[in-house]
Amino acid sequence: MKKTIFAVLIFILGILCSSDLKAYADQMVVKEDVVNVRSGPGTHHEQITQVHKNEVYEYISEQGQWVQIQLSNNRQGWVAEWLVHKNDKTMDKKKNSHLSLNYNGTNIRSGPSTETSIVGRGHKNEQYKIIGKEGSWYEIRYQNQKAYVADWIVKTQQKQPVNYEVASDSQSNLNGKTIIIDAGHGGRDPGAIGFTGTLEKDLTLQTADALKQKLQSLGANVKLTRQKDEYLALAVRNYHSLQSKADAFISLHFNSAPVNISANGISSYYYHFEDQHLAELIQQEMVVETRMTDRGVRLGNFHVLRENNKPAVLLELGFISNKSEEGVVTSPSYHTTVGQGITKGLVRYFAE
Ligand SMILES: [Zn+2]
Repeated sequence: MKKTIFAVLIFILGILCSSDLKAYADQMVVKEDVVNVRSGPGTHHEQITQVHKNEVYEYISEQGQWVQIQLSNNRQGWVAEWLVHKNDKTMDKKKNSHLSLNYNGTNIRSGPSTETSIVGRGHKNEQYKIIGKEGSWYEIRYQNQKAYVADWIVKTQQKQPVNYEVASDSQSNLNGKTIIIDAGHGGRDPGAIGFTGTLEKDLTLQTADALKQKLQSLGANVKLTRQKDEYLALAVRNYHSLQSKADAFISLHFNSAPVNISANGISSYYYHFEDQHLAELIQQEMVVETRMTDRGVRLGNFHVLRENNKPAVLLELGFISNKSEEGVVTSPSYHTTVGQGITKGLVRYFAE
C-alpha cells in the first residue's frame, strides 16, 4: 500500500513538473563546429567542456545573451546564444511568446496579483517575453528577472521581425530621423586614459564617425556635438539637443577602472525613466554585435542625460584601463561593430 501511495505521489509530482517545464521544453542545436560550454553566463566564466555542430541539448534557462543547457551526467552549462539555435518545433511555439503593453505606466509586479509589489513600469507597445501564465497574469521576463503583468492590459502578438540588413534609404525606419551623436570629452578634457595611453576623447570621436556613417547609410540625419578635438562644456552638448528636433541623443564614452584593471564590458545608461527602453535595446544589440561582456543597463545621473529633453542614452563602450580590452576597442573594426549594434538598437526603437 505504501508503495502505491509513493507511486501516486511520484506520478503527481511528474505531472506538476512536466506542466511547469512545458514552457521550457525546448531543444538547442549547436550551430558551430566547436562551442565552449562555461560554468556561468559569460565569457569570464570557466570553460567546462565543449559541444559540437548539430548536437542537441535540452534548454534550461537563459540570462542575457546566454543559454543554460543540460549536459550528460546531470551537469549543466552555459553557451552563448548566438552559437546555438532552437529547433523548428521550438520556433513555432515561440511565435506567440511575446506580449505588448496597451498602456503607458503599466505596473510590472513581483507576483500574479495586484497585491504584490511593483517592480517597474512599462510603456505602451513595449514587448516582453512570455515565460508562463498564472490565472489572469502573464509571467514575463523583465530586466533579466521573472515578473508579472495582468492579461487584461496587454495583447499577445507575434514579435515583428526587423530586417536590418536589407533596409534601403526609403525602407529604413531611420529615414528622416535626426540623431545627435555626442563624442564624450575633447580638447583639454581627455576623459579616461588607457593602459597604454589611449585617450578616451580620441576613441569617442572615432566611434562617433563610424556610427555616423552607419546611421547616414540608413537615411538618418546625423549631427555631431563635436567633429574635432575640442573642449565642449556639458551645457553646450545639451544645447544642440534642446534646440533641435532630434529624435535621439547618443553620448559615447569609454570606461576606466585603474584600481581594478580586469574590469571589462559595456553598459548603457539612461536618466529619464522613459529612456530605459532605448538603453535596453541598444545594449542588447551592442552585446550581440560585439560579444563584449554585458554590464547591463543602468540609471545614470549624468548631466547630458538629466538636462536633456530628447530620448537620451550614454554608452560606456569598454574599459581602456584593461590592457586586452584597450586593444579591442581601439581597432577600427570595433568602432564599426559597435556602431552596427547601436544602429540596430535604434532601428528596433523606432520600429516599436
Ligand atoms: Zn567618459
